[in-house]
Amino acid sequence: MIIVMQFGASQAQIDAVCEAIRSRGAEPLILPGEDRLAIGIPASLDSETRIELESALMSMDGVNKVTQTSRPYRLASREWHKEDTKVKVRDLVIGGGSFIVMGGPCSVESYEQLSSAAQIVKETGAQILRGGAFKPRTSPYAFQGLAEEGLRILHHVGKEVGLVTVSEVMSGDAVPLVGRYVDILQIGARSMQNFPLLIEAGKSGKPVFLKRGPAATIDEFLLAAEYVMSQGNNSVILCERGVVALDRSYTRNTLDISAVPVLKEFTHLPVIVDPSHGTGVAKYVAPMAKAALVAGADGVMVEMHPNPKAALSDGSQALTPSQFARMMDQLTRLHDFVSSEP
Ligand code: PEP
Ligand code: MN
Repeated sequence: MIIVMQFGASQAQIDAVCEAIRSRGAEPLILPGEDRLAIGIPASLDSETRIELESALMSMDGVNKVTQTSRPYRLASREWHKEDTKVKVRDLVIGGGSFIVMGGPCSVESYEQLSSAAQIVKETGAQILRGGAFKPRTSPYAFQGLAEEGLRILHHVGKEVGLVTVSEVMSGDAVPLVGRYVDILQIGARSMQNFPLLIEAGKSGKPVFLKRGPAATIDEFLLAAEYVMSQGNNSVILCERGVVALDRSYTRNTLDISAVPVLKEFTHLPVIVDPSHGTGVAKYVAPMAKAALVAGADGVMVEMHPNPKAALSDGSQALTPSQFARMMDQLTRLHDFVSSEP
């Protein structure tokens, strides 16, 4: 942290700042400048003290600005954890070089619908079956999901076909229920800053698939991951799913592909891209899935429905089984090419 003093700050004001730093257990470093003075604080303070000291310093007389030189997240940061985190879910490893695909319908609608989608997911070599049972819908009149019955179907089909499962949990109270049925807890974009939910998901110890909020900065996204990790749960998988679009007449969101290399640089957690919610248009899904792979993502989550026209939610962005199979074939060949690059 660096404190820049105001032009003409008095010696008493400088001394008061130094005393505030010393009283928190750190030694201030005076950095004389041409027309004003700065004071450096070594990175030895813990996160809580740093945040508390920052706000105390900002209100002190003679202080112009306080700048954090290290990132506000520690557990999620690559600075403190150089190797890629590999999240293990049963026999599957997410992160660390492989490319995984999560496929399935937006919502679980029936056993027949999910079972038929799951067979395509399995046959095409994708590894994870998705399906929402608790749906965060903009309108309270839209289909809300089958709730526990949907989870039962997902659990049953996942076992039957032999796929790892993921489904959304919308509240902290529902974590034990959803956790009983699925392998990975999904925290949706709208819930990214539902802090009690992040904490409960962290406490559960289950792998957490955390989606980026539609207007969240990278720091906010990683601090949300930090909430889960602060509970001793390092099995966090990040998902870029598009941010608020400038022009919604073409795409539902703007898929921030540049977030992939940025996240890869600043965090060790695996990064998945969701081109379905990212674009909202089925024909743009495969191109953006390929872009995600080339950008360095650890996988994609793609919505697919046996009959998209009859889907109860997000039909316009769902791939048909044959479109999904074609995308899988393209991704497999592209992955071979990208991983053979020197
Ligand atoms: C979903 O994946 O089902 C979903 C609702 O996505 P998001 O939270 O990204 O909108
Ligand atoms: Mn959806």
